[in-house]
Amino acid sequence: MKRRLWHFHGGLHLPEHKQASMTKPVVAAALPDEIILPMQQHIGSPAEPVVKVGEHVLKGQRVAKASEYVSAPVHASTSGEVIAIEERGVPHPSGLPLLSIVIKPDGKDEWTELKPVPDYAQLDPSALRNVIRDAGIVGLGGAGFPSFIKLNPGPDNAVDTLILNGAECEPYITCDAMLMQERPRDIIDGLLIMKHALRARHCIIAIEDNKKVALTLLKNSLQEHEAEFLKIVSIPTIYPSGGEKQLIRILTGKEVPSHGLPIDIGVVCHNVATAAAICKVINEGKPLVERYITVTGETLDQPRNLKVRIGTPCIDLLNACGWREDQTDEVLMGGPMMGFGIPALDMPTVKTSNCLLARPKDQPHQQPAMPCIRCGQCAAVCPAQLLPQQMYWYARARDFDKIQAYNLFDCIECGCCAYVCPSRIPLVQYYRFAKTEIWAKERDKEKADHARQRHEFRLQRLERKKKEDEERRRRKKELLKKTQPKPDSEADIKQAAIQAAMDRVKAKRATQKQQKKNIENLNEKQQQAIEAVEKRRQRLRNAGADNEENP
Ligand code: SF4
Ligand code: SF4
Repeated sequence: MKRRLWHFHGGLHLPEHKQASMTKPVVAAALPDEIILPMQQHIGSPAEPVVKVGEHVLKGQRVAKASEYVSAPVHASTSGEVIAIEERGVPHPSGLPLLSIVIKPDGKDEWTELKPVPDYAQLDPSALRNVIRDAGIVGLGGAGFPSFIKLNPGPDNAVDTLILNGAECEPYITCDAMLMQERPRDIIDGLLIMKHALRARHCIIAIEDNKKVALTLLKNSLQEHEAEFLKIVSIPTIYPSGGEKQLIRILTGKEVPSHGLPIDIGVVCHNVATAAAICKVINEGKPLVERYITVTGETLDQPRNLKVRIGTPCIDLLNACGWREDQTDEVLMGGPMMGFGIPALDMPTVKTSNCLLARPKDQPHQQPAMPCIRCGQCAAVCPAQLLPQQMYWYARARDFDKIQAYNLFDCIECGCCAYVCPSRIPLVQYYRFAKTEIWAKERDKEKADHARQRHEFRLQRLERKKKEDEERRRRKKELLKKTQPKPDSEADIKQAAIQAAMDRVKAKRATQKQQKKNIENLNEKQQQAIEAVEKRRQRLRNAGADNEENP
C-alpha cells in the first residue's frame, strides 16, 4: 500500500544541476600537504587540544577532547606530526579565525588501534551513545549537532519514528545520493544502531523521487525482517523537503511546534551520512575522520564527489577537479540556496562540509539589490510560514525585539524568499546578521549576569565572615568571663592588686636566693673574701638603720 504523504507550505521547484557530479564514482582525495583541524566543527563548545606541537599522531587518534556536554572531540584524519596549534581561518559565515591543530602528514596514513563494538545489541543505549560521542560524530547534514545528544530522547520521551533524511533537496549537492548508491548497507546498519540507542518503534528512510538509483539500491539492501519496521519512502522533489520540520510534515502530517523539537511529537531525524558514520564507528571502530564532499560548479572540468580527509584545504579539492579560477566569481561552501562564500580557499573542509560550489562570473545574483516593492512573493514561498519582508525591515532597523516577535528563529535560512525576490534583496544575509547580533547580545548578557552573580556572592561571603568573626569574639569573651572569678567590690579589686604585687616580690626574692646557691664549692680564700664583703654590707645596713632612728 502506498504511504500517505502531506505537503508543507511554500517551497520551490528548482533546477537541479545534480547530474554533472554523479557521472563518476567517488574517489579518495589525495593526501594534502597540511591537515587543519579547527576545534569548532560542531554546534556547542569548542574542543580542547590534548596533543602538543612536535607530537607524532596516528590516523583516528583523538587530538582534542570535548570541553563540555554539548561539544565533540576531534580526531587526526591522517598520521603525521603536529606542527602548530594556532588560530586559522575556518569556513563559516562569520569568517572568524578559530584555534586549530595543524598536522604535517607523514605519508603513511597509519591508523591508530581500532576498537569495533562486537555486538552493539548487547550494549545499553547509554553505553552505545558514549561510543558514538567519543568518536566525534556530529550531524553531517549541515547542522553539526553532536549526534549522541540527539540519540538521547530523555527518560520522559518515547520515540515513535526515527527518520533518516536522504532528501538532499538543494541543487548541485549529491554527496548523500552517492553515499546511498555506494554504501546502502552501511546506511541501514547505522539506522539500526540508532534505533537501538533510541528504542524507536518505526524507522523511515526518506529519499526524493529524483534519486531513483539510490532508492532501488537501498530497497535491495533491506533484509526481509527489517521491512516490518523500516520503510524506504520516496517523496516529491521540492525544495526544501530536506528541512527537518518540512520532512517530518511530509512523512507524518505533524507540525513541530514553534520553539519546539521533533522529539516533542515523538520523532527524531538524522541524516543518512550520519548513519553511515555511526556504522563505521561501531563495526570498524573508526571515528569521524573523513566524509563525502561534492565538488561541483560550472567552472570545474571534472565535477564529482570525493572521499575527503576532514581538514583538507578547499583549494586542493578544487584543483583535483580541474578548477578554472579565472572564470570563477566565488566558491561557496554548501549549495546555492544555503551555502556561503568561502573567504580564503586555503581554509579547511570540516565535518559539516558537504559541497564546494564554484560559481561563474556574471550571474543574476551579482546584480545590485533594489528597494522592496512589497509584492509578498517572499511570504508565499516561505516553508516556515514567516513574513520575510517584515523580518527584513526589522533586521535593517536593528529592532531585534520586533524581529524575534516575528519568529526569526523559526527561519531555516532556506533562501526561498531571496530566490523569488524581484528586488534581489539578500534577505537571508539580513536574517543571519540579526541572529548573530541577538546571540552576541545574549552572550554578553550572560557574561554580565555571571559577573554580577560573582560580585554578589563575594559581598555575601564577606558579610558572612564578618558576622562569624564577631560571633567568635563574643563567645571568647563570654568564656573568659566564666573562667575568671568576678571581683565583688572596688576594695576587693585593690586588695587583689596588692596581693598580686606582694606575690611578685616574693617570687623575685626566691629567685635571688636561688641564685646565691652559685657560691657553693668555693675555695677558702674566695669564701673569706665573700664573708668580708657580707660583713661590710651588714655594717653599712646597721649604720643606715641608726641614721633612720636618729636623723
Ligand atoms: S519578495 Fe522582495 S520585494 Fe517582494 S515583498 Fe518580499 S522582500 Fe519585498
Ligand atoms: S530563508 Fe527563512 S524567511 Fe526566507 S523563506 Fe526560508 S525560512 Fe522563510
